Amino acid sequence: MVAYTRGLTRVRGAAFDFAQAREAPRLRRSESKSRPESPSLNPESRIPDPRLPLHDPCIICRMPLVDALGRPLRSLRVSVTDRCNLRCEYCMPEQEYVWLPRDDLLHFEELNRLVDVFVDLGVDKIRLTGGEPLLRRDLPQLVELLAEKPLKDLALTTNGMLIEEFAGPLKRAGLRRLNISLDTLQPARFLQLTRQNDHARVMRGINAASRLFPGTKLDAVIMRGVNDDELEPLLDYGASIGAEVRFIEYMDVGGATRWRSETVVPRRELIERLTTRFGAVTAIEEPGSTAPADRYALPDGRLFGIISSTTEPFCRDCDRARITADGVFFTCLYATDGLALREPMRQGASPKTMAALVEERWTARRDRGAEERVEVRDRTVYIPVATLREHPHLEMHKRGG
Ligand code: SAM
Ligand code: SF4
Ligand code: SF4
Repeated sequence: MVAYTRGLTRVRGAAFDFAQAREAPRLRRSESKSRPESPSLNPESRIPDPRLPLHDPCIICRMPLVDALGRPLRSLRVSVTDRCNLRCEYCMPEQEYVWLPRDDLLHFEELNRLVDVFVDLGVDKIRLTGGEPLLRRDLPQLVELLAEKPLKDLALTTNGMLIEEFAGPLKRAGLRRLNISLDTLQPARFLQLTRQNDHARVMRGINAASRLFPGTKLDAVIMRGVNDDELEPLLDYGASIGAEVRFIEYMDVGGATRWRSETVVPRRELIERLTTRFGAVTAIEEPGSTAPADRYALPDGRLFGIISSTTEPFCRDCDRARITADGVFFTCLYATDGLALREPMRQGASPKTMAALVEERWTARRDRGAEERVEVRDRTVYIPVATLREHPHLEMHKRGG
C-alpha cells in the first residue's frame, strides 16, 4: 500500500507493494563512505582536492539532528514548482501529467518560514530544484530571502532553458552555485531526448551562466545507446567553459517509466571507458564529503564526477531532505510516504510545532531507497504509470532531483 501522509492524518492509497523497502538493517556511522573501488583506480595515486578546506569549519557547535541510522539532517532540496518546459525521456516520458493546483504551492514567505525551521534543525545546504525551478515566477526574490540565512551552500539545479535570462539576477540575489543539466551536445538528440527543439538556447545559457558562476557543474544522465558515445565530447565542452561534468547513472526513480537495467551505464564501465581513452583515472579523496558525486581526475588534470545512485548507491551518507512545491516533506528520493507541512503551517502552527513535526519524521528515518533497489532481483520500473497518476508526489519532477 502507498502510505501518503497529509498533515497528521495518514491516508492509505491504491494497492501497491512497497513492503520490501521498509525493513532495513541499521548502519553504523563508521561504515560511512566506504564505496567499492573501481578496477582501474590506483589507490596510491589519490590526490586531495585543492579546493577543500583543511578543517571543517564548525560554525555553531550544536548537536545535529540525526536519523535512526545516525545520519544528520544537513541538506534540503526545495522544489519550487512541478512544472517543466522539457520532457526528458528519463524523467517525464509520458504525454499527460497531474499537476499541483496553483493554490497549493507555498508562497515565498511560507517557503522562507519553512526553510527557517530546517535551518534551525541543522540544515546548512539548500538546493532549489523542480520541475524546472526557473519557471517559478520571481525566483530571484526567493533566492534573496534564502541568501540571508547562515548557509554553507545555496545552489540551483536547472535545465538551462531560461538561464541566459536569469543568471545575472540570480547572481545578484546571492545564489552561490549552479548545476545545469546537459545530456547531449547534439541538437537532434536533444530534441529526441527532451521533445523540445531548444538546444541552441540551452547552450547559449550555459555559456553565459558559466562565466557568472565559476565552477558550474554540468550534469549528464548517461543512457546506453542514447548518449553514451558523448562522454569525451561532454568532458571537452566542460573543460572549454571551465565547468566540471558529472555523469549520472540512469535511475529508476518515480517518473522513470521507461527505465530498463540494460540502459544503465554503471560507474565501473564509465571509468573503464575513460581509462581506455585517457589513461588511469585518479579518485579524489574528499574526507567528510556527503556529496552524491564521486570525483575523479583524468591524467591531464581535468576533473569530473560520477553519481552512481543505481549501481553503487551512497545512502549511508545521505543527509538530504526534500520538500515539494506544495510543502510535502520527503526523507528519500524513493520514499513513498511524505509529511504534508503546508496544512499545519497555514493553520498557524508555531515554528516550534513545525520543528517538532520535522524532527519526529527525521529521527524515525530509516530510508535507504537506492540501496534497497540494488537488492531487487530482475529490477524493472519502480512505480507504474497508473500509481504515479494516482499519487503524483511520487514523481521525481515533484520532489526534485
Ligand atoms: N529541471 C531541472 C533539471 O533538469 O536540471 C531540475 C530538476 S531535475 C528532476 C534534477 C536532476 O534530476 C537533473 O539533473 C536530471 O537529469 C536528474 N534526473 C531526472 N530523472 C532522472 C533519472 N531517471 N535518472 C537520473 N537522473 C535523473
Ligand atoms: Fe528534464 Fe528536469 Fe524537466 Fe525532469 S524536471 S523533465 S529532468 S528538465
Ligand atoms: Fe538518500 Fe534516498 Fe537517495 Fe539513498 S536513495 S541517497 S537515502 S535520497
